[in-house]
Amino acid sequence: MSSCMYCASDHVQKNWKLASWWQRWKCNTCSKQFSTWWARDTYSPEFKKQVIDEYCHTPNQARAVLEKYGISSRTLVKWKKEHLSSCKQCN
Ligand SMILES: [Zn+2]
Ligand SMILES: [Zn+2]
Repeated sequence: MSSCMYCASDHVQKNWKLASWWQRWKCNTCSKQFSTWWARDTYSPEFKKQVIDEYCHTPNQARAVLEKYGISSRTLVKWKKEHLSSCKQCN
């Protein structure tokens, strides 16, 4: 079971509409949505690839990507740096 990262409430439920191979949760107390990936230090390579691909290779703004995947901007900046050093498409 998970609890809300915003208000620490346990009244969270899976958001099936957005559910995918990573899990999306919605808090019934504060109505905010978050992903269970948020609290983790380690992310799967597939997740990382999808996030950075969407950020670097589509016109999406950073904020939209951050909200969609529920990661911190620091993480995104770090990943982008790593990505830029290895991506032919971005150089
Ligand atoms: Zn909450
Ligand atoms: Zn790239």
